[in-house]
Amino acid sequence: MRIAILSRNKKLYSTKRMIEAAEQRGHEVQVLDVLRCYMNITSLKPEIHLNGQVIDNFDAVIPRIGASVTFYGTAVLRQFEMMGVYPLNESVAISRSRDKLRASQLFARKGIGLPVTGFANKPDDIKDLIKMVGGAPLVIKLLSGTQGIGVVLAETQKAAESVIESFLGLKASVLVQEFIKEAGGADIRCFVVGEKVVATMMRQGKEGEFRSNIHRGGSAKVITITPEERATALRAANTMGLNVCGVDILRSSRGPLVMEVNSSPGLEGIENATGKDIAGTIIEFMEKNARHGKTRTKGGR
Ligand code: ADP
Ligand code: MG
Repeated sequence: MRIAILSRNKKLYSTKRMIEAAEQRGHEVQVLDVLRCYMNITSLKPEIHLNGQVIDNFDAVIPRIGASVTFYGTAVLRQFEMMGVYPLNESVAISRSRDKLRASQLFARKGIGLPVTGFANKPDDIKDLIKMVGGAPLVIKLLSGTQGIGVVLAETQKAAESVIESFLGLKASVLVQEFIKEAGGADIRCFVVGEKVVATMMRQGKEGEFRSNIHRGGSAKVITITPEERATALRAANTMGLNVCGVDILRSSRGPLVMEVNSSPGLEGIENATGKDIAGTIIEFMEKNARHGKTRTKGGR
């Protein structure tokens, strides 16, 4: 196959591993900087250009689109889809999972466990919003945050009120969420490829930190998950429509709760923690599934 990787940086661990795994299996790989791709949107013959050249000879595309370039990145990916190139993850599925509000609503619709979550717009409604999610302590999340930045634990009613008020005052959209204390600052990353959870790790926040993100100083170790956690991870991946993703789950006293689904999950943490060749597993999945024009949504909503 000729595989394009949409990534802004060839030197990132995950990108390097995908190149390595694909070349080992005899595929040709090219890394494309998604922000340098530009496009001709015509119904007869949609095209993507890069440095004055037409790009039209790829069989499959691996999107590794960072959160800060979601808008442009998914537009480029959609263009590949219109040209019939097989996407490892589809643009619509990526957009769904990037929007924490939309994702939570879809999980709720499918009956998947998630922390009680509220969303409001007007400062007048803050008191009732807090009551709705069970009062303080509670977690406040910026809709656009990643890597733990923009996730705040408000320990008291007063703190919660003033933090939410400040965010709304700045015109920032926030989710207000029940705090799952019994998770103990840890969460479970389930790495999904196709219909399987291929690797799992537990991430533990550093001492005194409720956020488990590795970027916030958390550490990872291997764990075994329960059948219920496995089923929850697969249902969450399926609800987003993602073939490859990292499903983050909190262990609560009422069972597994899905926090988010990451459409470009990093390989470094999970490969190092488990010693597994996840990049190879992803390329194998593409070998079995990549067909011209095989997208579920053809770039639609
Ligand atoms: P981000 O997209 O920035 O990673 P998350 O929603 O994943 O945001 O939250 C970051 C971390 O904060 C999680 O990995 C988890 O450890 C902790 N956390 C998030 N929400 C809750 C919650 N409702 N209860 C307990 N801990 C939480
Ligand atoms: Mg997270």
